[in-house]
Amino acid sequence: MKTVNKIYINGEFVTPHGAEIFDLINPSNNQKIGEVILADETDTKNAIAAAKEAFKTFSKSTVTERIDYLTKLKVAVEKRQQDFIDIMIEEYGGTHQFVTMSIKYTGAWFDSMIEVLNTYEFEKAINSSLVKLQPVGVVGIITPWNASNSSVCSKVATAIAAGCTVVIKPSEMSALQTQVLMEAFHDAGLPKGIINFVTGLGNVVGAELTGNPDVSKISFTGSTAVGKLIAKTAVDIMKRVTLELGGKSPNIILDDADLDKAVPMAVYGAYMNSAQACIAPTRLLVPENRLDEVNAIAKTVAENIVVGLPQNENTNIGPMVSVKQFDRVQNYIKIGLEEGATLLAGGEGKPEGLEEGNFVKATIFTNVNNKMRIAQEEIFGPVLSIIPYKTEQEAIEIANDSPYGLAAYVSSADEDRAMRVASQVDAGRICINGFSHDPLVPFGGFKQSGIGREYGAYGLEAYLEPKAILR
Ligand code: NAD
Repeated sequence: MKTVNKIYINGEFVTPHGAEIFDLINPSNNQKIGEVILADETDTKNAIAAAKEAFKTFSKSTVTERIDYLTKLKVAVEKRQQDFIDIMIEEYGGTHQFVTMSIKYTGAWFDSMIEVLNTYEFEKAINSSLVKLQPVGVVGIITPWNASNSSVCSKVATAIAAGCTVVIKPSEMSALQTQVLMEAFHDAGLPKGIINFVTGLGNVVGAELTGNPDVSKISFTGSTAVGKLIAKTAVDIMKRVTLELGGKSPNIILDDADLDKAVPMAVYGAYMNSAQACIAPTRLLVPENRLDEVNAIAKTVAENIVVGLPQNENTNIGPMVSVKQFDRVQNYIKIGLEEGATLLAGGEGKPEGLEEGNFVKATIFTNVNNKMRIAQEEIFGPVLSIIPYKTEQEAIEIANDSPYGLAAYVSSADEDRAMRVASQVDAGRICINGFSHDPLVPFGGFKQSGIGREYGAYGLEAYLEPKAILR
C-alpha cells in the first residue's frame, strides 16, 4: 500500500493542511493500491504565494539560466523512466506498449523548449518601437489522468522557458505518478518556489487556482465541460487561459487509399492509450462503395486486438481508468445499438476472464450516421464509428460536422490530394497517412476542443505578454 502524504511548496515536501483521503484503485482488478491526502484551498494559497514570490526573481532570469534549468529537469525526469512506466501501468492501467512508447517523449518536451529558446527573440523591433515579450506571471497547471506526466512536463517546460513560475494540480487519480514527478523536479535543484505541486480535487484546488487573482494564467488539459467552467471563472479577472479539451477526431480514408494499410492503422489508432486519448481518431470516414471491404478488414483487426492486463507486452487495450468510465462506455455502446448502428465487433459486457477489472471489448459500429450521439460525443473508450460518405466533399462536410476540432487524419495514395482535403478540415492538428508527432509544431483545438495552442514557439507565446514601447 502506497501513501502520498506530501505536497511540494517552495522547494520543500510539506504535509498538507487538507486532511481528506482519496483511495487509489488499480483499474485492472479494482483493488485499493494506495491513498493520497488531498490538499485544500489553504495549501493552494500557500503554493501560489511561493510561486508569486519566486516570480519576482525568476521573471528576470536570462535565457541561458532557463536553458540550464530545462536541461536539469530533463535529466532528472529521464532518470525516473522505469518508475514512471511501472506506475502508469498500475495506476491508470496504461498498456506496456503505450507507456513505454510515450515515456520516451517525456525528456523531449524539455529539449524542444531548449531548441525554441536558442532562436526565440524576446525583444522585437517594429518600425521605431520595441516589443518586449515578458512572462505572464504565475501559471496554474491543471492536468488529466490519461496523460499526466506528458501534460505536466510539456506545460512546465514551456512555463520555465518563458520565465513563469508554476503551481501544478495533477489529476487526483494520478497521485503516484505525481509523487515521482515531485521527486524528480526536486532533484533537478531549481531555485525554490519556481515549481510547486498541490495534489487535490478539481473543485477545491483547481477552483482556487482558477479564481485566485495572483495566478495570471491557467494552462488546462482535460474535458470540455471543465474547460468551460474554468473559462467562465477566469474571465472575471481576465485571467489568461490555454484550454486543451476533448475531441471526436475524423479519420478520412479517401477512395484511392490502400485499405489493407489504412484500415488496420485506423483501428489501432482509435484504440491508442486504451482508447482514452483526446486525439484518438474515433470517427472513420470511408467511401460508401468500399464499405464492405472496410468492414471486412476492420472486423478481422478488431477480433485480433488483445484486450488484457496492461503489463502484458502484447496487450493493445487495457482497462478503463475507473468503474465510472467503464459504465460510461457501456452506456454509449447501448446508445449505439438503440440508435440503429450496426455492431461489427465487440459490444456490451466484459471480455471473458477479465471480469475483475474495467475491461471493455474492442467495439466497432458501422453504418453510423454522423448525427448519431456515438458520432458526435466523446466516449473515451474503445468504440469506433465507421461512417460512409459518397463524395470527397461530403467526407469533408461530415468531418467538420462536429462540435470538436482537435485532430484529424487523412489517408490517400496521392499526398497532394490528401493535403487539399486536410486544408479544408477544421482541426488543430492533421496527420496524413499515419500518426506523426512533432513537439515543435502547434497543438490545440478548433471549436470546443479548446482555446490557444501548446508546443514550440506558438506554445511559448501563450505564456508571454507582449509589451509595446513606442518612441
Ligand atoms: P477532467 O476535465 O475531468 O479533469 C481534468 C483536470 O481538471 C483534473 O485535474 C481535475 O481534477 C480538474 N478539475 C475538475 N474539476 C475542476 C474545476 N471545477 N476547476 C478546476 N479544475 C477542475 O478530465 P479527465 O477525465 O481527467 O481527462 C479526460 C479528458 O481530458 C477528455 O475529455 C480528454 O479528451 C481530455 N484531454 C485532452 C487533451 C488535449 O490535449 N486536448 C489531452 C488529454 C486529455
